[in-house]
Amino acid sequence: MLAALLLHSLLIAGAEAQAPAPPNPANREDFDVVVRNGRVIDPESGLDGVRSIGIREGRIAAISSTPLRGRTVLDASGLVVAPGFIDLHAHGQDLPAARMQAFDGVTTALELEAGTLPVAAAYEAVAREGRPINYGFAASWLFARIAEKEGMEPGGAISFFQDAQRRTGWQHSIASPEETARIMARVEEGLKEGGLGIGVLAGYAPGHGRKEAFAVAQLAAKYGVPTYTHARYMSVIEPRSSFEALAEIVSLAASTGASMHINHLNSIATRDIPRIAELLRGAQARGLRVTTEAYPYGAGSTVVGAELFRGNWRERLGGATSADLELAGVPFDDATLAVAQEKTPGAWIVAHFMRPDRVAADQEFLDQSVLMPDGAIASDAMPWTSPKGDRIQGDVWPLPEDAFAHPRSASTFTRFLRDYVRERRKLSLREGLRRMTLVPARILEASAPQMKKKGRLQVGADADIVAFDPATVSERGTFTRPAQTAVGMRHVLVNGTAIIRDGELVRDAKPGRPIRR
Ligand SMILES: [Zn+2]
Repeated sequence: MLAALLLHSLLIAGAEAQAPAPPNPANREDFDVVVRNGRVIDPESGLDGVRSIGIREGRIAAISSTPLRGRTVLDASGLVVAPGFIDLHAHGQDLPAARMQAFDGVTTALELEAGTLPVAAAYEAVAREGRPINYGFAASWLFARIAEKEGMEPGGAISFFQDAQRRTGWQHSIASPEETARIMARVEEGLKEGGLGIGVLAGYAPGHGRKEAFAVAQLAAKYGVPTYTHARYMSVIEPRSSFEALAEIVSLAASTGASMHINHLNSIATRDIPRIAELLRGAQARGLRVTTEAYPYGAGSTVVGAELFRGNWRERLGGATSADLELAGVPFDDATLAVAQEKTPGAWIVAHFMRPDRVAADQEFLDQSVLMPDGAIASDAMPWTSPKGDRIQGDVWPLPEDAFAHPRSASTFTRFLRDYVRERRKLSLREGLRRMTLVPARILEASAPQMKKKGRLQVGADADIVAFDPATVSERGTFTRPAQTAVGMRHVLVNGTAIIRDGELVRDAKPGRPIRR
């Protein structure tokens, strides 16, 4: 940390020394792009001051308190300029989803929790279409398990997981040693193709064996990559509680040495977060590499056929009055739920597991997950669909007004800035930004060195930059009208190219690059 600070101040000093341009006309347009006069905040070095940023060939080439010249100049006066947000948890790997996330300040959106298989095919598909923001994938343990148990071959998209909801053999059966070896071989292939770790949707196959979970952690340790786990169970009631599931993850991290990331702590821990936070903080204090993320909503979104909505699920989520399922604002009763589980098990729905808008205690529980020390903010953004559930993909923009997804798909980061930083002042602006930039970068950078150049505003870093109005930045999407872009992002740059300029999408800009091992 100290070394980084020292290096940073030397680099700034270097840039500032160049800045008063000598009378040499060759220097008049020194930079490709200049982001001028914003309040530049770099969570790693602690820089917080008015600066101009000079960008050359996609990288930050100067950070200066005196004016810089560039071929393109973006005025950031009165705006906060920060590293672009890094989303560790983005299922909507389509062009419209990426654009919605760009308005939320996201410059890197990674599918790590589900992951995918085959990994190479997923990267190739995105590269063919192009993306405004950076993208990347983990190798999917669950896809491998479904493939082995059901004889279905995954094609590199989340629709494989939706289609698999019509079968249940993969959800509870124990894998034999031979099956486990074949599942691990598939996952290992994904790691060899550049996957950013192992996605572990444990909660969708909660009956898998402890030895299989151990094998996954061992494989992650062997490759030096993290696991990203949607933990088993999602229940406040023992046995088969979320607490038990997270204790399992702690034990796997301890015994294998693997880095183990826990996805959406808010929706896993729900009202048991006080005890679960103690469990995880204790593990972290003893040096285990267990990390967390959360999103600032008391509702999740998943397939209606998910195992967690079977049996006494309302009690397991902490009470019948609070665990409401809905589709675009229309609630399910038990009868319509049973029909949907039977007829359309792969359909996306919204599940309110807590009611922070109605119950003060729920707001406190949610806050504890979102504000977990050193936790990342991550969206769990979903693909956008028509009201009938058809995926919206390709060059569709703007989204149709009735497009459906959980509003976190458009507004996680701006909502966090509005609610937790500006209005309720739970965190300073710098600390809030750190949780969306440096914290996620550090979770990845030991195994994906590209990430050392992201999540920072420093000379030499990738020019993934947001310039936003701290007084107005906010979500607009709601559960009934989710398809509304967030407001407040004036300029968003990815690898030095503006994808949002003066608040407008630059539709043909696709500077996103793969993040890959
Ligand atoms: Zn999940």
